[in-house]
Amino acid sequence: MSGGGLVTRFAPSPTGLLHLGHAYSALLAWDIAQSVEGRFLLRIEDIDGSRCREEFVGEIYEDLTWLGIEWNEPAVIQSEHMDYYEQLLVQLEALRVLYPCFCTRREIEEEIGRAGGAPHAGETAVYPGICRGLSEAEQAAKMGTGAAYALRLDVAHAWRLVGENLVWQDRLAGEIHAAPGRLGDVVLARKDISTSYHLSVVADDARQGINLIVRGEDLFESTHIHRLLQALLGLQVPQYLHHSLVLDDEGRRFAKRDGAVTLQALRGEGWTPEDVRRRVGL
Ligand code: GLU
Repeated sequence: MSGGGLVTRFAPSPTGLLHLGHAYSALLAWDIAQSVEGRFLLRIEDIDGSRCREEFVGEIYEDLTWLGIEWNEPAVIQSEHMDYYEQLLVQLEALRVLYPCFCTRREIEEEIGRAGGAPHAGETAVYPGICRGLSEAEQAAKMGTGAAYALRLDVAHAWRLVGENLVWQDRLAGEIHAAPGRLGDVVLARKDISTSYHLSVVADDARQGINLIVRGEDLFESTHIHRLLQALLGLQVPQYLHHSLVLDDEGRRFAKRDGAVTLQALRGEGWTPEDVRRRVGL
């Protein structure tokens, strides 16, 4: 990958204020782009209207600017591109790799319980495939009752279709052979939103011409699915850099839900961008 051609990005979800973990990811991507005169883009991943808030978007711009980061084009706002994700779903439907899933969270948990506990990948239980075997008549009957449904990727089928031999390059972990079954049949269109994190992140990274994705190692498992989606949709394959996570003083990863100290709060305490860099090791 030659210097001037590098395009990387930071893609936060505006569900809260940025903390040191975000600062590390954004600064690392920014520094890499700067070091080779590449481009750094910003994308606001706000497809989940129930969790995202407009006010946090402004705060993200403010925090990044304070850190000394500039983005090369106006930020891409995912919620403005729902029609694009729908087009990709149509492409996947034509490949017959999607199936409707009518399950509630409770039904999925009960089924997992009956099966004596299922493997867990990260925080989410792997979907036990309840709706995968529904016939077209059964699907139509359920749809006829007006039941809400998500669209899941039939990973085993999709995997066979693409030829089962996919790799990606990670700047730290090296060449990785994709094993997309690990997360199970992921949801590509949620019941309430006609897309999902997996679909829209892959779609936008391709559309924005991102060729280096810098993000936390907590998303490493997701990349197996992303690589499969790239193959199914004929999209370019970026290089990855999954970095280790910044830990707090007790050795726990920073997370919005734990009320991690935000950049805004640190700024209020008199921290400078240099203090942030020192704390995250950059
Ligand atoms: N929007 C995701 C998040 O805030 C990150 C997406 C990515 O970097 O792939 O967790």
